[in-house]
Amino acid sequence: MHELEPHEVTQVMGKGGALDAFKKAKDQGMIDFIGLTSHHPAVMVELLKTGEFDTVMFPFNVIEREPEPELIPLAQSQDIGTIVMKPLAGGVIRSVEKCFKFLNGYPVDLILNGVANLAELNENLRYAESADPLTPEELKGFEQEVAPLGKDFCRRCSYCMPCPSDILIPIMIQLPWEMVKGCSYEGMSEQKKEMWRKLTVWWQACEECGRCEEKCPYNLPVIKRKNELLEIFSKE
Ligand code: SF4
Ligand code: SF4
Repeated sequence: MHELEPHEVTQVMGKGGALDAFKKAKDQGMIDFIGLTSHHPAVMVELLKTGEFDTVMFPFNVIEREPEPELIPLAQSQDIGTIVMKPLAGGVIRSVEKCFKFLNGYPVDLILNGVANLAELNENLRYAESADPLTPEELKGFEQEVAPLGKDFCRRCSYCMPCPSDILIPIMIQLPWEMVKGCSYEGMSEQKKEMWRKLTVWWQACEECGRCEEKCPYNLPVIKRKNELLEIFSKE
């Protein structure tokens, strides 16, 4: 059951809901296990306590630490498989080694990290196979390193899509964020400015319907970022 939202819990867990259907499929031998995923640790904790789930998948990295105090220990105590998504925080953390070492400090079972080529796969395997966690000093340094990133950046998960105006939001929201975080327009190469100037035209198709913001699990202010970007380029 992927990406459960708090308002869906009653419907999914209630009589005749999705859980009943999955249990029936399990009884019939069509599936072996029932897994749960969400961006809401409190929801996952509540649902794991029902004893109905075999695995749980959640975002977890040095920036997103919410599963640390309750969810991970609960899953471990109930022998529920743990699957980590966004181990590199959607790609904003560049050091694969530090991310794997961070996760090696926790009893998680599976790390889902995307790869683009064989070299990246080998790099992932190298760090996944070394069981060394971060030392307390390394963890402190890592936390200080990522602190300027904050938490309000796009993870490129695409839950905000589709957009009725066909805007590729995960791409389009990236530059406003970079600029909000101090990547100045003046400091950009001419090539990059030109690329964003062209892409910004796409934002003009936004009708501000707000659907993307309702669906974004990180509550990113898409419309505000869009307006910031349009303002920057309107001064050109
Ligand atoms: S607010 Fe704009 S970008 Fe978001 S879904 Fe609506 S039209 Fe698309
Ligand atoms: S705007 Fe939100 S929902 Fe869309 S890709 Fe980024 S993080 Fe995911």
